[in-house]
Amino acid sequence: MKKFQNSLQEPDQFTLTYELVPSRGGRADAHERALTLARDAAADDRLTAVSITENAGGHPVLSPEVLGIEIKKLGLDVIIHLSCKDKNRNQMESQLFAWDREGLRNLLVIAGDYPQKGYRGHPKPVFDLDTIQALDLISRLNRDPKDRTAHPPTLKKYQPTAFYKGVALSPFKFLESELMMQYMKLMRKVENGADYVITQIGFDARKFHELLLFMKQNHIHVPVLGNVFIPNMTVAKLMYKGMIPGCVITDALYEEMWDEAQSADGGKKARLKRASRLLTILKGLGYAGAHIGGPGLTYKDIASVISEADRSEKEWRDFIPKMSYWPEKRFYLYEKDNQTGLNRETPSKRSKPHSKQLSFLFARMMHTLLFSKNSPLFSPAKKTCLALEKTRLANGFAQYEHVVKFLLFSCRNCGDCVLSELAFLCPQAGCAKYMLNGPCGGSRNGWCEVYPGRKPCFYVRVYERLKACHEETKLNSGLLPPRDWVLNQTSSWINFYKGIDHTNPKK
Ligand code: SF4
Repeated sequence: MKKFQNSLQEPDQFTLTYELVPSRGGRADAHERALTLARDAAADDRLTAVSITENAGGHPVLSPEVLGIEIKKLGLDVIIHLSCKDKNRNQMESQLFAWDREGLRNLLVIAGDYPQKGYRGHPKPVFDLDTIQALDLISRLNRDPKDRTAHPPTLKKYQPTAFYKGVALSPFKFLESELMMQYMKLMRKVENGADYVITQIGFDARKFHELLLFMKQNHIHVPVLGNVFIPNMTVAKLMYKGMIPGCVITDALYEEMWDEAQSADGGKKARLKRASRLLTILKGLGYAGAHIGGPGLTYKDIASVISEADRSEKEWRDFIPKMSYWPEKRFYLYEKDNQTGLNRETPSKRSKPHSKQLSFLFARMMHTLLFSKNSPLFSPAKKTCLALEKTRLANGFAQYEHVVKFLLFSCRNCGDCVLSELAFLCPQAGCAKYMLNGPCGGSRNGWCEVYPGRKPCFYVRVYERLKACHEETKLNSGLLPPRDWVLNQTSSWINFYKGIDHTNPKK
């Protein structure tokens, strides 16, 4: 059996994977088609693994491990997507134990698309953990529970698992704030256990190069696979309109594809040619591999893309001008190298910070006065809160706190307040996926994936506020632990002074 992990750790190896989407129903024809493709791929040793999505697009389909187990039997390695959208932390653990037992140990850990309409309406979006917290959970499960020196400590009573954890990342963001948040979150993902990276879907050689340069400059040494997606016109249109979160087709590319689609084959030959060129560029840039995907493809199509890329390996630099679909005026992290069409190592000009918001400064001052151990008000405030907790006024006090914080911050009364860590914006109210450690990959043009054109991405707002105080880099490390639901609808002030909220380092 080919091993994805071994292949990625081999510096001279260019690892190829392919993305499969499970069918809606265990006996669907699409399931058989996926198996046929996997069987053909297993017979051709150029593809190392297939990745299997989990309820992609937020729609319920067959669980990925079912397809994964069948494909493993065919002799092909498998990557299973683990998304945070539909399950809480305990269900996630249970699923991880099952996958470990089945030998499905390559993961792609993602937030996941927002759940879409299901049985009699829209389901509850779970997002109990975000990607960073899920990585932390898996890293702990991977450790020997008897290791007393482990930091952070291991969980209790389990046999250690052996997962290889990948994450997704998008360099294809139009705004500085969105892009910087993606890159800063990458730093946190690697710090918290990410072993490899797969990029989101986009078509621009300079953007692909930008990611490698950022990783080099920030000493991030994990292998990266570039995404080579081959959309048909229907999917291209959806991506162009921003209806598939995190996947970008720009004006220039869409116009080109539209022209190609007028040909007798509907533009298929041109789409495969573009994919092979992108594959060639990724190899030339030094990517560890590529992740190929696209609807309605046969293995013959995929094999032809790989063969064409092998044939044209030496021409990768000539293809760069043809793979430049990103609007020049949109944000790039580095200045352009006009000779190569890629990037120089010089950072590009950043936008001017917004002016500081008075409400933010006031909230921060009050927080320091009441909750900083060096403040003269800390001790009396702590004594008052702890004394109140023991009286009949405790409930009234919790309600008073909620009303004040609702009026000021749209507080959702979680009892474990992270306002001071997130620029005095509430993630329970502001982020559709309740993310505590950075954005998902779905924002577009600064708008939230779930409310395009109506609500800005929560982390765009956090970044702008922190940037106004030159503090934006504070989001590039660490981890905020997941919400402790036992604190729900209790006083976060009392919980803080009692030392039972997230600020307790033992949590
Ligand atoms: S607010 Fe941002 S991070 Fe939260 S769901 Fe929307 S796009 Fe994702």
